[in-house]
Amino acid sequence: MKILVTGGAGFIGSAFIRHMVKTYPSYHIICFDKLTYAGNLDNLREVDHRPNYEFIKGDVEDLNFLVWLFRHVDVVVHFAAESHVDNSLGNSLLFTKSNVIGTHSILEACRVSNVKKLVHISTDEVYGDILEGSFNEDAKLSPTNPYSASKAASEMMLKSYIKTYKLPAVVVRPNNNYGPFQFPEKIISRFSTRLIQGKKVPLHSPKPVRTYIHVDDTAKAIDVVLHKGVIHEIYNIGTEDEISNIDLTRKMLQFFGRDESYVELVDDRPFNDLRYSVDYSKIEALGWKQQISFEEGLQHTLTWYAENKWWWEQMSECQKK
Ligand code: NAD
Repeated sequence: MKILVTGGAGFIGSAFIRHMVKTYPSYHIICFDKLTYAGNLDNLREVDHRPNYEFIKGDVEDLNFLVWLFRHVDVVVHFAAESHVDNSLGNSLLFTKSNVIGTHSILEACRVSNVKKLVHISTDEVYGDILEGSFNEDAKLSPTNPYSASKAASEMMLKSYIKTYKLPAVVVRPNNNYGPFQFPEKIISRFSTRLIQGKKVPLHSPKPVRTYIHVDDTAKAIDVVLHKGVIHEIYNIGTEDEISNIDLTRKMLQFFGRDESYVELVDDRPFNDLRYSVDYSKIEALGWKQQISFEEGLQHTLTWYAENKWWWEQMSECQKK
């Protein structure tokens, strides 16, 4: 099986590729990535010498190139996207280009080629927030920021290709991922690298609650959907590991031996979802189970950032005061 992974040099895409290359030596895995600020081939060092791995630099908006490439691809797993909400509050047009037009190009290239399955990576943020309970896959989409709106818009385009062309696609909607190799712009990676450097952490708002899943659990869930997911279905990928921003920050302060004077409250986002939560019983019914508890995964992740300064120290994000 030949699998092309868009955005494979990013955080979740690279975890998925490391898992697939090691688990399935007989599959050929192609990482297709534009290498934006968030793409980093160092994330793939562990597997880049293996014969079943290949890297191709390219942009998901380049339809002609995709059509040419997809001639001999069996499965496409589509991660490529602008992924940081805060950036979408500045230049949201870039999000429409990469996430909506990029996905549209992927759909079109799949339509005219012989791709047998497209696994589209969406997000739990397409549902918007929920103060109590959890969204299942039939809930209505109600995105609240330009990032989540661009992800919802790309899902709408995908839905139209399913209805009109019977495109063999499945969608997954994971919740917040954390783990090694996450660009230091999201709360766990950013705060870890700052605390290690002895810098204060900028906290938007103490209140919002997020649910976390370790990136290796997400990679395995996508593997399950790739092999067993029913065409045209949607699968939430989630856990019960909910924690507020302030409680998470306190855990990190404690781990790195810093006190509350290292927290700087900064202006909140113009609108900040209070809580996300998904019902993930449907993917559990396919045979997936969370394997890494938040306590264990967080300890391991914070230790990884402390021990792998080579990976993040030179990044522009880490040069900021
Ligand atoms: P990331 O920002 O770490 O990586 C994105 C990757 O896509 C980068 O390697 C980048 O170079 C590449 N890319 C961006 N635009 C491209 C383009 N036009 N052509 C080719 N490559 C391009 O993102 P991530 O956190 O790994 O997220 C991956 C996917 O999972 C995204 O679709 C995101 O919406 C979704 N998701 C992320 C989370 C999370 O917590 N990180 C949660 C749910 C869903």
